[in-house]
Amino acid sequence: MQATQHDVIVIGGGPGGATASAVLASKGRNVVVLEKDKFPRYHVGESLLPYCYFPLDRLGLIPKMKASHFPKKYSVQFVSMEGRLSVPFYFFQHWDHEAANTWQVLRSEFDQMLLDNSREKGAEVIEEITARELIWKDGAVVGVKAVTKSGEAREFHAPMTIDATGRDMFAISRNNWQVRDPYLNKIAIWTYYKDAMRDPGLDEGATTVAFVPDKGWFWYIPLPDGMTSVGVVAEKDYLYRDSRDLATIYQREVAAQPWIKEHVACGQQTGQYYVTGEFSYRSRHCSANGLVLTGDAFGFLDPVFSSGVFLALRGGELVADTVDAALTEGDTSAARFAEYGESMNKGIEAMRKLVYCFYNNNFSFKDFLMKNPTMKGDLTDCLIGNLYRDFDPMFEAMSEFADVPKPVPHGMPLVSEPALQTCP
Ligand SMILES: Cc1cc2nc3c(=O)[nH]c(=O)nc-3n(C[C@H](O)[C@H](O)[C@H](O)COP(=O)(O)OP(=O)(O)OC[C@H]3O[C@@H](n4cnc5c(N)ncnc54)[C@H](O)[C@@H]3O)c2cc1C
Repeated sequence: MQATQHDVIVIGGGPGGATASAVLASKGRNVVVLEKDKFPRYHVGESLLPYCYFPLDRLGLIPKMKASHFPKKYSVQFVSMEGRLSVPFYFFQHWDHEAANTWQVLRSEFDQMLLDNSREKGAEVIEEITARELIWKDGAVVGVKAVTKSGEAREFHAPMTIDATGRDMFAISRNNWQVRDPYLNKIAIWTYYKDAMRDPGLDEGATTVAFVPDKGWFWYIPLPDGMTSVGVVAEKDYLYRDSRDLATIYQREVAAQPWIKEHVACGQQTGQYYVTGEFSYRSRHCSANGLVLTGDAFGFLDPVFSSGVFLALRGGELVADTVDAALTEGDTSAARFAEYGESMNKGIEAMRKLVYCFYNNNFSFKDFLMKNPTMKGDLTDCLIGNLYRDFDPMFEAMSEFADVPKPVPHGMPLVSEPALQTCP
């Protein structure tokens, strides 16, 4: 069997893995990326947050983003159940920086751009190879067993492995580390429209969040070439109440939401209907000896505020810097990643509190800001992705309107238990 030695193995070439590998390769590390698909490949998650600008800038990709055909996203707007549109929340009105204007991306192209960049920075990217198991030795991960599309078994050895496998949750699923969020247990059904309606002017590329009963919601995300991504998120029981057929359920919800109904009426539904559950979870651990988790492979949060890609890009950056320092110090123990885990948790927790408030029937951003006008800057920071700062005063004030959850106790390094998975 072919076996190769590296500084770092990255499993997964999505935004998290591509960012981590590009940063590590730029620092001169020998990095191999194992990606099971052949890019470009389809992926959901098209709306970026303004703070994506900073990791993209570090990767040197802002000129490519500016030259791309991705629609510009200047704002997010909310639509009531009756179809009434709120005044759009324009990021540039709250933040005087070119990063305030972001993009709606076709993930096949965006992810390809990130992975190409990783190659250009010097990472070895192998596509159509699936990581099958971790190789453990003396309580530490020392490599990965993988198999190519043609069935060839391969081994990769390295003192550090980064799990960036997204919602496939490579390490989580093999070690039983998944902890679901009991409150955020929705499902999503989505599809695409050609030539659906665009709002005029600056609002052409806006993300629209349109409410459905019981705090469910639609996303409406304009994409290149006249395509629009339109999805509905709600409780499983609500969506499946009178049918199991995805198209029937979806079209029933479209017909009941006046703004969405009007906007898709002139468009052509194209392609399949997609569905997913597993809406919010976190890993019990962010690291084991020789192993660290990032992006959706570490945790996933309900996408109502479009935080996933940002958390993957930022997590990719952060994990790369931490892994690089760990290799330099010769300490790749789980505990070395405690600060990384705290930082990841902090960002996710800020968004999670906001998501809980969003789903609380007693909460409205309008009422909250009427009573707390000085908190507009804090709320803006949260909504644009400036998550790594103190939001305690804002969430204290929000707790008068809604139950704001306490931080989850998990997501820290695996330091006390023996390795859960062994491999001869
Ligand atoms: C319904 C829905 C809507 C969303 N909307 C948004 C949105 O509007 N905005 C936003 O920012 N985020 C959104 N997200 C979240 C966003 O899609 C993710 O947070 C983001 O893709 C995470 O990036 P990642 O690199 O961690 O994982 P991924 O992008 O999933 O990449 C993981 C990669 O790992 C590969 N892989 C998996 N297992 C293996 C293996 N064993 N071996 C080798 N390779 C493997 C996969 O093929 C994949 O390419 C949404 C998510 C959902 C489910």
